[in-house]
Amino acid sequence: MNLSLPLADVLRTTKAHLKKLSEMGLTTVSDLLLYYPRTIESTHICERGTDIAIGEKNTCFGRLSNIRKQPTRGRKTITKAALTLNDESIIDVVWFQTPYLLKNLSEDTDIFLVGKITRNYGTLQLSNPELHIATNVHTSALRAVYPESSPITSKWLREKITGLLTFTNDFGDPLPHEIVEEEDFISKKRAVQQIHKPKNHELWEEARKRLAFEELFVIQTRVLHEKLRREEHTHNAFPYTFDPEKVKQDITKLPFELTFAQKRVLFQSLQDLNRDRPMYRLVQGDVGSGKTIVAFLALLQIVREGGYQGAILAPTEILAQQHFANALKYFPPEIHVEILTGSVTAKKKEEIKTKLRNGDIHIIIGTHAILTEDTVFKHLGLAIIDEQHRFGVAQRAILAENKSHILAMTATPIPRTLALTVYGDQDLSVIDELPAGRKTIHTKIIASPKDITTCNRFIDDQIGKGFQIFWVCPLVDESDKIEAKNVHDEYDRIAHEVFPNRRVEFLHGKMKPKEKETIMTKFKNHEADILVSTSVIEVGVDIPNATVMVIENSERFGLAQLHQFRGRIGRNDKQSYCFLMVGKPDDTNKTRLKAMEKSNNGLYLAEEDLKLRGMGEIYGTRQSGLPNLRCADVTDTETMIHTREWAQKILKKDPDLKAYPALRHEIKEQEVYIGKG
Ligand code: ADP
Ligand code: MG
Repeated sequence: MNLSLPLADVLRTTKAHLKKLSEMGLTTVSDLLLYYPRTIESTHICERGTDIAIGEKNTCFGRLSNIRKQPTRGRKTITKAALTLNDESIIDVVWFQTPYLLKNLSEDTDIFLVGKITRNYGTLQLSNPELHIATNVHTSALRAVYPESSPITSKWLREKITGLLTFTNDFGDPLPHEIVEEEDFISKKRAVQQIHKPKNHELWEEARKRLAFEELFVIQTRVLHEKLRREEHTHNAFPYTFDPEKVKQDITKLPFELTFAQKRVLFQSLQDLNRDRPMYRLVQGDVGSGKTIVAFLALLQIVREGGYQGAILAPTEILAQQHFANALKYFPPEIHVEILTGSVTAKKKEEIKTKLRNGDIHIIIGTHAILTEDTVFKHLGLAIIDEQHRFGVAQRAILAENKSHILAMTATPIPRTLALTVYGDQDLSVIDELPAGRKTIHTKIIASPKDITTCNRFIDDQIGKGFQIFWVCPLVDESDKIEAKNVHDEYDRIAHEVFPNRRVEFLHGKMKPKEKETIMTKFKNHEADILVSTSVIEVGVDIPNATVMVIENSERFGLAQLHQFRGRIGRNDKQSYCFLMVGKPDDTNKTRLKAMEKSNNGLYLAEEDLKLRGMGEIYGTRQSGLPNLRCADVTDTETMIHTREWAQKILKKDPDLKAYPALRHEIKEQEVYIGKG
């Protein structure tokens, strides 16, 4: 097919250009045609002075004269000229680097110049304009502006893409004809043409709207299709009908009152257990919203009453240890709980696996070490995946093999639009309420030496009051050595220079699991005041007595991660404080840090993060199962919902999409792209 021709065969261009294109993921004709412009700009031609918009980009047509070179004070040469328009208005033109075209240009040539025009003491000035001899793709009516990546410029793209537009005839339309008709969309082919080379603003908007709709529609159809397929092939191997009275009794025994949101999510989950297909639910709740106890209560029912086994999967050893310690306290002695992580000896591992096989262990807690093929359960009824976003699609798939119910949890706030796509194939429950009495964490950016002094004094004061401190340092480099060195240095400074009279410990990812565990236990038992660490404590860790979180070089972390760190404190009714240290006082990333100062709300911060960094960076293509969007806006909830409704309608009519080959093809491509195909 023509659309799959390699760009190297159809473009006349340099090796450097081709190399860059390939780095940008553009290798075929189709790739380039689907590289959409960021925006368009008007190149309406000004033939008179009165047509000019001062302060903006204008395309002027006139006669170029008085072309001359002038030395500058900095010993460079600039080129100046005058452009005379039809009505005799004169524009002073200057180029700091002589454009190639100008070299052979004779005086008094008619020419098009494109650039920003300013007024300076009554004269019109145009610096570094583009130069065009005749009307062309750059000077006629509207032109596309693309995301650029040197040496790939908008000008280059405009010329090359215009040359390829005839290939658009080969585009099939993934949108079902009934949608095109009912929504009154233009065809795919016309949309691609118009997005690159629009006739007018209206058509460009129409093209965008249609292409954005198509993008979201394909995602929605893929996700729903996958869900339907899975549901069709699975049945509930561990049906269990819960007893509301027993659950209520368990809730009454807790040392605290569950929030309404916790109860709602617990009952939603329990109801899943006796459906005709297994539970596949995601619980989203901001840091500290109390997800663990919901998981424990669900496990208690299915293990004690249902007689099945349960599992909790945590992303880190530290977190697994924490869950294990809590579980030992929480579950009654007749429920046998064990831990299985990478640091368990081979002999012990064998023993645990035997007991899992014959059902002697009721609840197993661990890291992905649980997920090896030789772990066989007698009857794993419910698997909890804590901090699901830390696990890959593949790891989740292994769990699914066990046919157990799956209850996943995440603190990563999911903007509504994403909930409808990324997690579209899971049922979603949201714990949108924090336990009563939680205080807003006071957050402050610390930049000046004076602030640092005040801050250290404050921290010392908190320690004096019996509270504990987390102190996070960034990973300067991927290299293990540097990570360790960095924490070591910080530890030395904090332990010996800043707080010589306080008990300071440190922790980093490269320590042996046993060492990590010892240190966490020490900190938990309040045998240390300050814990200096790398981001290993990022997720889940729960030390209620810690009230201060210090984050060094906070400008290096993303908003989501900062929010996770901050979530380690403020986990009860004590007032907590977060200090964001910055490398340099004038650090440019301050908008992000300001957002942290302003808000404690994970969802708000996630949406800000999305705006600042885009989706790929945050959720990761493979992790989230979401391709990067070319045209659609991730925050466009309305289109997201609308496309979902359409996807449901189409799949209901034609579950295998037999009548829609182009759509099927598109879905396949996407599956391959995100690594599921
Ligand atoms: P996360 O949702 O971040 O995983 P956890 O489950 O670790 O949060 O709970 C945070 C802390 O809040 C824990 O110390 C837990 O015991 C406590 N907690 C949970 N639910 C409640 C509640 N309803 N009232 C008071 N404290 C609670
Ligand atoms: Mg947690």
